[in-house]
Amino acid sequence: LNSSKIQFPVNLQFNVRRFFSSAKAVGEPSLLEQVELFYDQATKYLTIDKGLLKYIKGCNLVLSLSFPISITRDGKSELKVIKAYRAQHSHHRLPTKGGIRYSDDITKTEVEALASLVTFKCACVDIPFGGAKGGVKIDHKKFTEEELSRITRRFTVELLQKNFIGPAVDVPAPDYGTGPREMGWIVNTYTAYNPGDINAYGVVTGKAIRQGGIRGRAEATGLGLYYAIRETMKMPENSRVMGLSKGIKDKKVIVTGFGNVGYWAAHVFKEIGEAKIVGISEWNGGVYNPDGLDVEALLEYKQKHGTLINFPGARNIPNPDVILSMDCDILLPCALEAQINGHNAKKIKAKIIGEGANGPCTVKADKILNERGCVIVPDLYANAGGVTVSYFEWLKNLSHVRFGRMTKKYEENSKKILIDILEKKFKKKFSPIEKRLMVQGAGEMDLVNSGLESTMNSTFKQIQETKDRYNINYRIAAYINAIQKIADSYKISGMWP
Ligand code: GLU
Repeated sequence: LNSSKIQFPVNLQFNVRRFFSSAKAVGEPSLLEQVELFYDQATKYLTIDKGLLKYIKGCNLVLSLSFPISITRDGKSELKVIKAYRAQHSHHRLPTKGGIRYSDDITKTEVEALASLVTFKCACVDIPFGGAKGGVKIDHKKFTEEELSRITRRFTVELLQKNFIGPAVDVPAPDYGTGPREMGWIVNTYTAYNPGDINAYGVVTGKAIRQGGIRGRAEATGLGLYYAIRETMKMPENSRVMGLSKGIKDKKVIVTGFGNVGYWAAHVFKEIGEAKIVGISEWNGGVYNPDGLDVEALLEYKQKHGTLINFPGARNIPNPDVILSMDCDILLPCALEAQINGHNAKKIKAKIIGEGANGPCTVKADKILNERGCVIVPDLYANAGGVTVSYFEWLKNLSHVRFGRMTKKYEENSKKILIDILEKKFKKKFSPIEKRLMVQGAGEMDLVNSGLESTMNSTFKQIQETKDRYNINYRIAAYINAIQKIADSYKISGMWP
């Protein structure tokens, strides 16, 4: 993205900055303090040893390091010092798991907070990992691909030397500022240093398909978010909230963040849910159209112009606070944390909020929105689709088997249906090899998506049950379930020594 091309008036620059920086910048508790506040609210309903609760809450192990990287600008080379972190929040299950973020704003405590969210998220949806998170303090937009490759490889080697990475130790994944490309560099570096490790491809998830990735991982968080909202809206008390009618169909949806999570959320809500995506925003401005946006055309536009601004047929909304307050039924914050805060929560019109991002609502915002009767589907549950499908990818890598092998009859059947649809869509005839690959891919996709759907459905039932039992909101119910499961696993394994 070329941010220098977009000139905002000075007052808007302030808002953009505030929107995409930490909670501290908006005068509220940091993300770590926020997670701890929610944690403390949840533990009031639990009868668990206080010492154990203190242990579960804190971060087990944090690596904080610096390394140099040589870069060349205007023909002059200079040495840059890069700060990086990896936090392993909980070892009650191994390996630990969680994304690596490339962001200029990252701090050690933020990485710890994000790692703790992964622990609670995994426990909430019954994925057997401890939580972790990594952060490299760089603005990835200011580095070349070659420099990013060197930074990623050096970070991988640092993690390796300190035993902070491995298929059975700690398994990174994409997060803000990283994707399959970075995961490819990690797996390639790890393999070079561990030539005999037959499970090397399980060292990282979110890889490209040809590098041991799994079909459906890219769309998993957005699709999981869709299942989460769909299940929530099946409950009569939620579907009627503030005069809303039943189901996702025809609902007006606003999505903030148009990266991997936001794009797929918008795509799935429109294509499967038949919702109307009225607004989409990014860090450098957004667009709104009450009649609905063409999500695919918008993605193409963004790829070409580096911004959503001036997308034909839509109204420009350069101020991120304004797009949050525009008319809609469902709001899906899929950008960074603290985007919904004490400054803008009162103006939000959405009746249902699905947290595609981690910690997008600050404590103040959470209180304001709950008091107003807004239903918040919390991050612990709403965005757990990503790590769920990462789990499937890791299992695929460890099992060394292509997922979704089918019976002959099923294969013949899907070949007929699928190839027919695809040949019509792409207006071409596929070769026998192409057909075979498509059917194989469909088998894997089918397995992944049905596994994701059943995970999201059964987790919803668990959270709903806790919510009803204590008459609390979904967030605290999700925390209660997660903490109870982690405590149970510690109790079963016992304390050592
Ligand atoms: N960025 C996601 C998270 O940290 C990915 C987790 C994963 O797939 O391991 O929650």
